[in-house]
Amino acid sequence: MTEIIAPIVDCHCDTLWLFDRKEYHFNRKNRIGHIDLPRLQSGGVAVQFFAVCTAPIKDRGTPLEAALHYLILFDEMLARTGTAVLRVEKMQDLDEAEANGKVACLLALEGAEPLCGNLELLSLFYRLGVRCISLTWNERNCFADGCAEEISGGGLTRSGRLLISRMEALGIVLDLAHLSRAGFRDALELATRPPLVSHANCFRLCEHPRNLTDEQLKQLAERGGVMGLTFYPPFITGTKTASLDQLLDHFVHAASVAGVEHVGIGSDFDGISESVEELDHAACYPALLAGLRRRGFSFREIKQIAGENVKRLLKQNLK
Ligand SMILES: [Zn+2]
Repeated sequence: MTEIIAPIVDCHCDTLWLFDRKEYHFNRKNRIGHIDLPRLQSGGVAVQFFAVCTAPIKDRGTPLEAALHYLILFDEMLARTGTAVLRVEKMQDLDEAEANGKVACLLALEGAEPLCGNLELLSLFYRLGVRCISLTWNERNCFADGCAEEISGGGLTRSGRLLISRMEALGIVLDLAHLSRAGFRDALELATRPPLVSHANCFRLCEHPRNLTDEQLKQLAERGGVMGLTFYPPFITGTKTASLDQLLDHFVHAASVAGVEHVGIGSDFDGISESVEELDHAACYPALLAGLRRRGFSFREIKQIAGENVKRLLKQNLK
């Protein structure tokens, strides 16, 4: 079978947590973790989102202190890695990375807790390079309810609404992953630019509160959004294991409900304790692309899912 080449855009990883580990070096191939430069390069990754997720971190001070800590580690990584990587800050950075074969790295906040409810800090995080923000992690904060707040299930607060319009003005991508159903509905009503769901799967195939219902998938597509499908077995099968074909079922379903233009990849590498068979780390993307081909997607559609859809969304959001 011909090898399928399609640049990968991965909308979500938690690799920044690994930057704290002495035995981990981003520039070398590591025994631990899922992502490092050699594995991104051999997997054909063109754009990698790096999430700063502070809600579950308890030993790094306040969420603001923890976020600044990881932003510094990210900066140090970029400085050490030199010309092989490029930080995505504006639209043209994507073309420059592509033209020069660099891995484009995009900084994201997973949960807006580091803003401490203070919208002035948004422009500071923008200056520090953050270009994608999800309002919540699983729990409630001053902007919205997360998806684990099933009993209250509240929508966006006034601050949450304000945050979305300020993000749009700056050119920061709105990520709806982890949000409550009501918050998702509110955010879609408000957003004037295509939103991202950086890492989730299909509720129809796996009834997990982190997954999107068919109705949500359709609403996301109507707004020009994209959902990055994720490799975490509990969101695929509801168990600790998942085969590549069970993950591919989600790609097929999402494409049939939302349309292939609204499907992408959000691996959650380095944030997951179990992985999909044959997708052990970032060098394994060729197996995913071959699987998509096996399941009937055309070469054109595979390129869209692999990266073009999210690239389009980035160009519609970044300055
Ligand atoms: Zn997450």
